[in-house]
Parts: sequence; structure tokens; C-alpha cells
Amino acid sequence: MRRPSRPSGNYSNRLENKLALIDKNGSEPKSANSQGRRVIIIGAGPAGLTAAYELCKHSVPAVVLEADSVVGGIARTVNYKGYSFDIGGHRFYTQWDEVQKIWEEILGDSFLLRPRLSRIYYRKKFFSYPLVAKNALFGLGLLEALRTVASYLRARLSPSPQEENLEQWLCNRFGRRLFENFFKTYTEKVWGIPCSEIHAEWAARRIRGLSLASALRNALWRRKRPGAKTLMNEFHYPERGPGQMWETLAARLRARNYPVLTDHRVVRIRHRNGKLTGLTTAGPEGEKHFEGTDFISSAPLREVIDCLEEPAPEEVRRAASRLRYRDFLIVSLIINRKDVVPDNWVYVHDPSVRVGRIQNFKNWSPAMVPDPNKTCLGMEYFVFKDDDLWSSADAQLIDLAGKEIAQLGLVRPEEIEDGVVVRMPKAYPVYDRGYLEEVNTIRHYVEQNLTNLQLVGRNGMHKYNNQDHSMMTALGAARNILGAHCDLWAINTEPEYQEEKTPPGGGELPRPAYEEPPQVGAPKPTCLE
Ligand SMILES: Cc1cc2nc3c(=O)[nH]c(=O)nc-3n(C[C@H](O)[C@H](O)[C@H](O)COP(=O)(O)OP(=O)(O)OC[C@H]3O[C@@H](n4cnc5c(N)ncnc54)[C@H](O)[C@@H]3O)c2cc1C
Repeated sequence: MRRPSRPSGNYSNRLENKLALIDKNGSEPKSANSQGRRVIIIGAGPAGLTAAYELCKHSVPAVVLEADSVVGGIARTVNYKGYSFDIGGHRFYTQWDEVQKIWEEILGDSFLLRPRLSRIYYRKKFFSYPLVAKNALFGLGLLEALRTVASYLRARLSPSPQEENLEQWLCNRFGRRLFENFFKTYTEKVWGIPCSEIHAEWAARRIRGLSLASALRNALWRRKRPGAKTLMNEFHYPERGPGQMWETLAARLRARNYPVLTDHRVVRIRHRNGKLTGLTTAGPEGEKHFEGTDFISSAPLREVIDCLEEPAPEEVRRAASRLRYRDFLIVSLIINRKDVVPDNWVYVHDPSVRVGRIQNFKNWSPAMVPDPNKTCLGMEYFVFKDDDLWSSADAQLIDLAGKEIAQLGLVRPEEIEDGVVVRMPKAYPVYDRGYLEEVNTIRHYVEQNLTNLQLVGRNGMHKYNNQDHSMMTALGAARNILGAHCDLWAINTEPEYQEEKTPPGGGELPRPAYEEPPQVGAPKPTCLE
């Protein structure tokens, strides 16, 4: 097991502290501006805790209010009978030295550098991830390879005249056969909509100038880009899961008199004369009131608008009610076997099962299992809250997960000892058609009418922010209170912030739509909560 190392020179030089770039005036935070300030932070996920940490470093009083009984938000770690698991595996990956430094500051030697192996499982075979053209073509046998090539040639000779959706776009470039084998099922499992409803623009933006022929050419002749290995093949991870990071930070804040109050759900927000004045929380101890001079929220945008005591204009409330989320549930199975697969996680492309991805937590860190002779597999299901799966009883879900892992041929039924279910609502903000206008309507209203409130994080900005992006928005918000001028909305917009977006050389095929949410069609009323 490797302990943390500083990022390679290339990595850190290219991507120096980006926060300086987003401070419009290039100014340093001024502690003098913070006199008499008291900051109220909504949410104790990575964003909320990072904001408090930065304010603590500058001695600005702050309190964090968390609805849940634990900290970490989506990046928490759950413990069941000594087995630890994430809500989906959480790699710690960042292009900002500053974020890396905070992680190392918090966890020191417990912040591990781990090798990565993740593959695609399809028709009881493993395929490399990212998918490599040669592997995809010949992995299913010669006959399927011939069919795939024939399907590709057919697509080239008579392409679909329309390229409006992801299905048409991919079939035109890779042939229907490859699309159906490797792109369709997983993308649809993750986003819950057919590829024919996903805009082609999403693929066109991400995957330029790539086709089956060019991927094969790359595989045969082009050398791999130097440097790609570091980003793809290793990642940082806390010894006892991501929750360890956020629990340690919360404990440190509390020790320095920065309260992190769990079971405090913000239910009402008061505002007057263009400013927030206070909040009311509800929890087991009843209602409580908090007053402050500055506010930072990582709660879902929709919730913030719903909580306003003086309601926002109709147009803003309508925009908030139209924001959609994809929910997520994980069934963790305890397996009585030392080693099941060597992977950290496996993408399940098989359409005959509903599980989308399988996490193998002991390969993230050996400390995630209490007994080295056992394995804990996290069966991940991407759902909407009104799906049958979400409302199924835990026992039914454990049964389903057990049957699916056995059907996939990875585990024998008698090896499954136990299981547990965790549901995470609003795991993914959905980018449907028009979502950006809705977000901008809310953002504009907040900037004009709630001038001492800053929106940060993932659902807090309805943006597909990872932990590091969420932390950067939080650092920016804290520094704005200290006198800087950071544009939080500029974070996670540059292509270079994305880890695995552009298909590099080496014959890789585009990834299904799970690294970044695609734009989907108009909202279906059934998907609204
Ligand atoms: C399946 C999955 C896998 C992921 N994998 C990775 C990964 O590998 N690497 C990575 O960096 N990121 C990953 N992420 C993203 C990561 O989880 C988020 O970026 C991160 O958790 C966002 O932090 P946040 O603080 O903005 O939001 P959250 O984690 O959502 O925290 C917000 C907090 O606010 C609280 N809250 C909400 N409403 C209220 C209210 N009214 N009052 C008080 N509190 C409230 C919530 O309970 C929550 O604790 C993954 C996400 C998912 C769903």
C-alpha cells in the first residue's frame, strides 16, 4: 500500500493554483474585512466543511448546519458490522495542488495512493476500461468481430441522415452493433432514459473526430500519450474511506469551536432588504434559530428556494421546481471469499441485470473489510425515487443483488453471507433541456436579492461537481467573505478540469455517458419528486 506522494512536476506545473484565476481582482483574502462576521453554512458535505475550514484558518466565526445525522454528504462512508463502504466509490483526484494539500493536511499518512483497475463486464467477459478498439472488436470472438465490422461499414455507406440524438450519432460513427454492445445499456442504466433521448450535442462536444476506423488506426500506430498513466492508473483514497476525511475535518473544526451540528435541517430562511438574516432548523431537539452576517449553502438549489419565508417570485419557484435529480442506491453484499475480482470496480454492461456497477471495497483500501478472508461488494443501482427499486423493501433488494451477482457468475449464492442497503436521494443533478436557464434564473435571483448568500458544491449549484470542484467553490466562497472576488460559477467549466474526457491515443473508444451527465430530453412529469 503506498502512502501519499506529491503530484508529478508536469501535473502540478500545468495546473497550478487555479483559484488565483477565478479571483477577478487577483486579490488575496483580507482578514480585516471579516471583523464582526458570523457565517452560517448549510450542509456538512465536502463543500460545507471546506468552507468552514478556510474560515477557521482566518479566525472568522462559522457554524455548519447538517440535516443528516452524519457528515460527509454523498462522500460519506457507511459502516455495517465492521465493513465500510462509500456511496459509490469516491476517488480523490484533483488537478488543484491546493485541494491536494488540504486532503494531505487532514489525513496525513492515512491518505493512500492506490492502484486502479476497473473493467467492463459483458457476456461473462472482462473488457478493458476505457474500452480499447481491438479488445472490443475481438473480445467477443471472431464472428462478432465480423458482424461489428459489417455493421460499421453499413453505417458508413448509409448513415442516418439525422444526427439529433446520441444513438444516431454513435451508430453513424461506430455502427449499430458496437453501439448496442458497449454504449447503450450502461448509459441507459445510469441516466434512466433511452440513448435516443440524449442530445447528440453532448457526444459531439466530447468526442470529436473519432470513429471505429480512427480508433483502430490509433491502436495500431499511435503511441500512448506520456503522462496518461498517472491520471488513469492511480488515485488517492483515505485508508477508511472518504468519510474518514470528512469526519476528521468535522472533529478538527469542533475542537476549534467551530460547531458542526448534525440533525439540524434548515427548513426556513429569512431575508429582508436584499439580505438573508437568519435560518430555522428542525431536528430531534426541535426548532432552532440561527443568525448570521454571511451564508453559504451546499443544500440542493430547489430546497433553498422552497425554504424562503418570503417566497421568491413565481418564475424563480417554477425554475426551482423543474430541477431534476437522479437518485442512487447501493446494496453492499458480504461475501465469504478472499478474492472475487482484482478490480476496484466493474462496469456491468449486461442488459439482463439492473445493477450498473460493482464496487470491490477491499481493493480501494484493505482496511475497508474487518476480515481479509471476506469481500464486500457494493452493487450500485441508478434510480429515480419513483422507481420500483427505490421503494422496494431492503430484504427484496438484497435478494435481487444476490441473484444478480450469481447470475453474472462472479459469486456463488452460498458465498453471500449478509447484505445492507443505503439509499442516496439527489445523487446526480440532471442536465435536461432547459436546466441551464432554470439554474441561471435562480442564480440571478439570488445574486440580486439575497446578496449575502453564496451557492456552492454539487446540488448547491446544480452542477456535476466532484469533491475537488465542490471544495474549490467553497474555498472561493470563504475567500469572498474575506474580501476576494472569486467567480464560483467559473469553476468546473474548463475542459482541462475534466479527468477523463477526451479520448487519448491508443485506440480507445468513447466512454458511455457516465463520466459526465448528458443533456436529456424535456422533463417527464413522472420523474419529478
Ligand atoms: C455514485 C457517486 C460517485 C461519486 N464518485 C466520486 C469520486 O469518485 N470522486 C469525487 O471526487 N466525487 C465523486 N462523487 C461526487 C461527490 O460525492 C460530490 O462531489 C460531493 O459529495 C459534493 O459535495 P457537496 O458538499 O457539494 O454536496 P453533498 O455531498 O451533497 O453534501 C451536501 C450536504 O448538505 C446537506 N443538506 C441538504 N439539505 C440540507 C438542509 N436543508 N439543511 C441542512 N443540510 C442540508 C446534505 O445532507 C449533505 O450532507 C460521486 C458522487 C456519486 C453520486
